[in-house]
Amino acid sequence: MKLSFFKTRYILYSILISVISWFLFNFLLQSQSVIMYKYFIEKPANYNLERAERLAAAIYQSFQKEVPTPSIPAIESFISKYNDIPFLSVNFIYKDKDGIMKSVLRDVKQIDILSAEYVYPIQYDGKDTGTLLVYDINKEYKKGLQEYTHMMNLTRWSFAFLLVLIFSILLYREYSEKIEKEKRIAEYRAVHDGLTGLYTQKYFKEHLEKEIMRCQRYNRPVSLIMCDIDNFKIFNDSYGHLAGDCILHTVAQIMATNVRASDTVVRYGGEEFAIMLIEAGIAEVESVSRRMKDLTEQAMDIAGRIKNKIEHTKIEVKDKRVNVTISMGIASYDGSPNYKSEHLISEADLALYESKKNGRNQITLFDPETKQFIRFL
Ligand code: GH3
Ligand code: MG
Ligand code: MG
Repeated sequence: MKLSFFKTRYILYSILISVISWFLFNFLLQSQSVIMYKYFIEKPANYNLERAERLAAAIYQSFQKEVPTPSIPAIESFISKYNDIPFLSVNFIYKDKDGIMKSVLRDVKQIDILSAEYVYPIQYDGKDTGTLLVYDINKEYKKGLQEYTHMMNLTRWSFAFLLVLIFSILLYREYSEKIEKEKRIAEYRAVHDGLTGLYTQKYFKEHLEKEIMRCQRYNRPVSLIMCDIDNFKIFNDSYGHLAGDCILHTVAQIMATNVRASDTVVRYGGEEFAIMLIEAGIAEVESVSRRMKDLTEQAMDIAGRIKNKIEHTKIEVKDKRVNVTISMGIASYDGSPNYKSEHLISEADLALYESKKNGRNQITLFDPETKQFIRFL
């Protein structure tokens, strides 16, 4: 199966996002908590619960032996000795003279007294002196580890959500771009001919109808040139349809490049073309008949140029250089009322028919005043 551009892009995005996410995820994982991470990776060796309990009891046993008189510095040095054990933490809390609760280890003062796993009341001479607290750090770590796992899952789900979001946005963009593009192509195809790229007859008829109405409203002249390739059937029969298509394309190109920006070039039928011309500049000071004469002259000028170019354009077909000729008919309309677009088309058609009748490869003008045909080229 051939991958479409859309799918290839989608796969590339997926790989790229997954790689970036993987690195980002690991970075966050490692930087969340250095201590927790360190513990997660390096658990204290030989740890077991019984051993922690035994050690805690042993510390308690040796407390009064090693601290014969309860002085704070002596307790402090005793405690610091046991705080070297990797998975235990020892503290001593007592009440000072003012009855305020104090802790020997300032660092662990924050730790909740109740969270100590082993609690031993210490008495000297039958009097409560304080409390020995032994923390099983491993349990603390276990709690941390749970939080850590929770955070990890949270991060993981956030990433999954982020990925889905990114993919959705990308997909949406891809789809909407694709749909938009297809819409533009469909709109273009609806009014343009596939072979020549010129406007279609359907578009032309609607456009001409509107233009005729506008001409009536603003007293503006409009001209129409109908064109038909001469003996095209014979050309097709002699050189084949592909060569015929090539001619149609070339003729269309010549027409499109030899009209003014305001003119509309149409593929009217098989080898028939129409060119609609409206006044390019605003020349309202002149009379309508003068402006119509001007526009008709411009139409004749353009038609003459196109006819000439087509006649002299050679196309290579099967090692031969061939050309075609074209016949044309021109009609103009001055904007007077009660006129329809069909009238203009049929007048231009009649003029074209005159060109054909009189031997082809010529241009005929229909004069609306005298209703006469004038051959001029
Ligand atoms: P005339 O000088 O009287 O116009 O003669 P003609 O042979 O050009 O006119 P006719 O209407 O008899 O034949 C038109 C030919 O145009 C017939 C058809 O094969 C050809 N044609 C129409 N559309 C296409 C097309 O899209 N491609 C090709 N190659 N030929 C086409
Ligand atoms: Mg024809
Ligand atoms: Mg023809």
